[in-house]
Amino acid sequence: MRKSVSAAPAQRFAAAVQGQCLCGAIHFEIDFPARWAWHDHSSASRQAHGAAYATYVGSWRRRFRITEGQSNITQFADAASGTTRSFCARCGTPICYERARSPHMVNVPRALFKTRTGRQARYHIGIEQMPEWTYLGERLVPLKGFPGVVWDRSKRKPRAAPISGGSQN
Ligand SMILES: [Zn+2]
Repeated sequence: MRKSVSAAPAQRFAAAVQGQCLCGAIHFEIDFPARWAWHDHSSASRQAHGAAYATYVGSWRRRFRITEGQSNITQFADAASGTTRSFCARCGTPICYERARSPHMVNVPRALFKTRTGRQARYHIGIEQMPEWTYLGERLVPLKGFPGVVWDRSKRKPRAAPISGGSQN
């Protein structure tokens, strides 16, 4: 991230970035900047979010705080993968994702923060698990008769696995 010329170092590192769930029962914050950020294409995160993929920011655990609504958090622990996912019990928003093998990190969905987190998501995890229906920025045009709807009019072929395809098979 580009550093602000006007902000003193003490101000930059003291700031916290706030986030919340859909219904507003749970509020939290991380210290700025986040540790890193990435897109997670794994099937587990896809299902947990009900979305094509999840974008996370990672924070040191000691820099992450639930500031409101702790009692509204419900958790799902997946013993097989050593992961614990926390959700809002009222609205279902995924709040964070923790892994036993990274005990000092908390991974928070990027979408829950309204402002910048100090890290851009330039990394991809589980890219080989990306489904062929994921939108990849194909050219879109307006759908006649349906204001607000755009679509990919090309008849694209089913996509091959993005990484393993090619001459390495
Ligand atoms: Zn909620």
